[in-house]
Amino acid sequence: MSILTLLREGNPLAKAEQQRTILEGPSSGTPDLPRFETALESAGVQQLRRGPLTTLQVNVGKLCNQTCRHCHVDAGPDRRELMARGTFEECLRLVQDADIGTVDITGGAPEMNPEFEWFVSELRDFGRHVIDRCNLTILSAPGFQHLPKFLADHNVEIVASLPCYLESNCDSQRGDGVFRKSIEALQILNRLGYGQPDGELVLSLVYNPTGPSLPPDQRKLEQAYREQLSQRYGIEFTRLYTITNMPISRFLDDLLSTGRYEEYMNRLVSAFNHDAIDGLMCRSTLSVDWQGYLYDCDFNQMLELPLISSTRLHIRDVTAGDLRDRKINTGRHCFGCTAGAGSSCQGALT
Ligand code: SF4
Ligand code: SF4
Repeated sequence: MSILTLLREGNPLAKAEQQRTILEGPSSGTPDLPRFETALESAGVQQLRRGPLTTLQVNVGKLCNQTCRHCHVDAGPDRRELMARGTFEECLRLVQDADIGTVDITGGAPEMNPEFEWFVSELRDFGRHVIDRCNLTILSAPGFQHLPKFLADHNVEIVASLPCYLESNCDSQRGDGVFRKSIEALQILNRLGYGQPDGELVLSLVYNPTGPSLPPDQRKLEQAYREQLSQRYGIEFTRLYTITNMPISRFLDDLLSTGRYEEYMNRLVSAFNHDAIDGLMCRSTLSVDWQGYLYDCDFNQMLELPLISSTRLHIRDVTAGDLRDRKINTGRHCFGCTAGAGSSCQGALT
């Protein structure tokens, strides 16, 4: 079976293993690419290790109402993986045990998990900062139209993908009609107080390139977004995050099928920026999958690269002390986080 066929049709574990094989080579046909660990050493970092844990990123499942071309989760309407109540309860236990201040909820479309609203309410009752990684279109889908008010009432930060302020660019990446629905959702959120200059409801937008290039300067692009969204649609937002496309999952498939994998990897490697190392999100964030297994980040989760341990660690089995100063599980995909201005779920790093 070819690599592309496996990526498209294989079961999730086989797909993850195949991706790791491609990325780590030399069978990838990219024998000259350096290892990420070698690049770290050349920057004077012998090992990447965890620092204080500030954020738990909870991937509540792969179910989504969209099927975006760049999706690193391979999410879509036909996925059935969803976190169950017992695993959410283990997340709440660790949040309290490790005194984690921020819980970043992602998916799929996280709001499609039936436990989403209960989980958010519990976290807010504990005084935690909650982030919802929202695709915007879910806010107008049948059965979810009450969500904007729910999120505002619970002071949840919304981080929303909007890969361009131009309709055609956005729809080419996220699907026909997505831009229009996203604009309508942003207008609803603005009316509820999100993204207002003096308000406390935070609305962050996320840009990622439509193709195999690095994001432009975050501050300049934020300014362009502000002007364009305000003039065209009267929309305001709090800030813009630029995020580099990671060479995994659907975007890796796209790179391979268009013959641009090596070009993109070489671009990431040659843009290695050692100033981005301190801010890498794996140093302060812990990622948990829908079944409760733990990873250094969401990208490692998609590659089935667990926390380094003799056994695969589950959230029910760890305490705050188990997580301190652990070595981070890295690979060539990590060049996506250190390229250019650096990249994380909170945007550029430098
Ligand atoms: S990128 Fe987000 S909205 Fe698009 S398919 Fe993936 S999880 Fe869904
Ligand atoms: S992909 Fe990025 S966040 Fe994840 S382990 Fe590598 S450097 Fe850290």
